Amino acid sequence: MTKKQKKVLARIIISALLLVVIGIITSEKLSIPYLSDNRIVGLILYIIPYLVIGYDILKKAFKGIKNKQVFDENFLMAVATIGAMVLGEYREGVAVMLFYQIGELFQSYAVGKSRRNISELMDIRPDYANVLGENGTEQVDPDEVEIGTVIEVSPGEKIPIDGIVVDGTASVNTSALTGESIPKTVTAGDEVISGCINMTGVLRIKTTKEFGESTVSKILDLVENASSKKSRSENFISRFAHYYTPAVCYGALALALLPPIVRMIMGLTPDFGDWIYRALTFLVISCPCALVISIPLTFFAGIGGASKAGVLVKGSNYLEALAGVKHIVFDKTGTLTKGNFEVTGIHHSEMERDEILDLVAHAESFSNHPIGKSVQEAYGKELDKSRVTDVEEISGKGITAKVDGKKVAVGNSKMMELNFVPYKDCHSVGTILHIAIDDEYAGHIVISDVLKDNSKDAIKRLKKLGVDHTVMLTGDSKKVAEHVAGELGISEVNSELLPGDKVSKVEELLELTNDREKLAFVGDGINDAPVLSRADVGIAMGALGSDAAIEAADIVLMDDDPLKIVKAIGISKKCMRIVYENIYFAIGVKIICLILGALGIANMWLAIFADVGVMVIAVLNAIRALMVKRIAV
Ligand code: ADP
Ligand code: MG
Repeated sequence: MTKKQKKVLARIIISALLLVVIGIITSEKLSIPYLSDNRIVGLILYIIPYLVIGYDILKKAFKGIKNKQVFDENFLMAVATIGAMVLGEYREGVAVMLFYQIGELFQSYAVGKSRRNISELMDIRPDYANVLGENGTEQVDPDEVEIGTVIEVSPGEKIPIDGIVVDGTASVNTSALTGESIPKTVTAGDEVISGCINMTGVLRIKTTKEFGESTVSKILDLVENASSKKSRSENFISRFAHYYTPAVCYGALALALLPPIVRMIMGLTPDFGDWIYRALTFLVISCPCALVISIPLTFFAGIGGASKAGVLVKGSNYLEALAGVKHIVFDKTGTLTKGNFEVTGIHHSEMERDEILDLVAHAESFSNHPIGKSVQEAYGKELDKSRVTDVEEISGKGITAKVDGKKVAVGNSKMMELNFVPYKDCHSVGTILHIAIDDEYAGHIVISDVLKDNSKDAIKRLKKLGVDHTVMLTGDSKKVAEHVAGELGISEVNSELLPGDKVSKVEELLELTNDREKLAFVGDGINDAPVLSRADVGIAMGALGSDAAIEAADIVLMDDDPLKIVKAIGISKKCMRIVYENIYFAIGVKIICLILGALGIANMWLAIFADVGVMVIAVLNAIRALMVKRIAV
């Protein structure tokens, strides 16, 4: 509890005790002279606990009136309780304030707790970096570490800044980032990202980024800014409160005045006191706090729970959209397949196998594409990049470069057509890399990719969640694409697409969507950033360490397990279910109480219990969104 909360608690206890004591000494049974029968004495006594508990609410209400923002909860409470005191219902007046404050305290405690929870969940912010100097290490603020500095990370410490290991071997744990604890061994030459925890040996790391540009900072920024993007439900609630509160106030005024006037016209006694009391009850009941607080809290908890599971959501609006996804479009390579191509055969005509592989691997030596990297790996020897000039990578087609002065073109059939080189087809199932050297066809390399272990399961579970339209887009050949789609049970395939074609295909599919049925695109962020930003919800997977993907996507999956997509949708659905439960529950109880209040059946006690009760239940329900462990994946 914070200091402020403790102070409110003390005020609650003091005024509750006073209320009880005054209640006893003024009770009619004791009939103490002046105490039990004098209204003025009663007012003077009860005003003490009233002010103890309510002075700040009265002050806020007064400020609101001065700033011409009259209609808020403080105003409702102030009018209702002052009215009760004027009518001589002292006990009700104090009790309404008292319970209102209990409710507020509970709510601020719950919000504070879930906020703390989230920062605990994302306990990845490093406090210091150990910079290696001439005489040992020195602890400095990570913000002050320049690129290229060597830092030391001991076992148990967080890696504060992204970099490359220069010395040492250790097992690092990424669980704070991904939600999954799969330790990874790193050694000299390996890239490491900030936020991981060093489990075993001492590592010396040469930083490659500033702290502000490191993975940790990017992720924290993203999580901290998530609540600024409001969902439609949240906007609905603030619009609702904007019209609702004044409407209720005028309704109460009408309830206080109209029936007595009508009664007077009809020649009956006006019963002003009775109707004013009903109007005040009406005001207490109508306080919209349960809704106003619990909806944003639910999204907040949902986003927090998701980040614990390694799913970063950039705003409540995306969480809401994700729950409505009916069409899901996947990129193939690196998303559904591992993207680790294996060279399964080299079919060549005149040149030797080794010579071809040597030229191709060098041509690909600058490529970050999964194919490029796999070829480099298959080559297995040190690459001499000085042999390579004029590298040009053509998205969706392949690469051209000069190696030892020879023009090498590698890629799919489109690449060959681009260079007017006739090529030979191959009957092997797999991605065919055609090779032309000095514009002469030199044969092809067959490479094959494998499905990720969980891809098939993920598609099946998505269907169970009601996402029945699954589409795969790929730049790979039709044969490979159809093979993969068939294996996975994907309903629609589009192959041999250039990156631009993927955008137009997604635009075409977006015509199928509407307010309730959304389209999500899942990619690895490598050359699909335009598509990620075009879809209703862009999901980047395996984004750990890939800045482009973190920037372009709306939802970032920290590892590359396709089941995370299912988990993300499961979390969003649970969160939206809680949001709707709270909206219906709170509005429902309010309407019932308002009717009972207007009819004179509900008194102020019931009203305040209903209000605080609904709020407590709604807030507890909202906190459930934080619990994502049991969501099946
Ligand atoms: P995907 O849609 O499966 O992610 P891309 O659009 O990245 O695939 O690439 C489509 C095709 O272009 C690949 O299947 C390959 O034939 C060719 N290609 C792309 N980049 C390269 C490269 N660096 N080297 C060789 N071929 C490439
Ligand atoms: Mg791709």
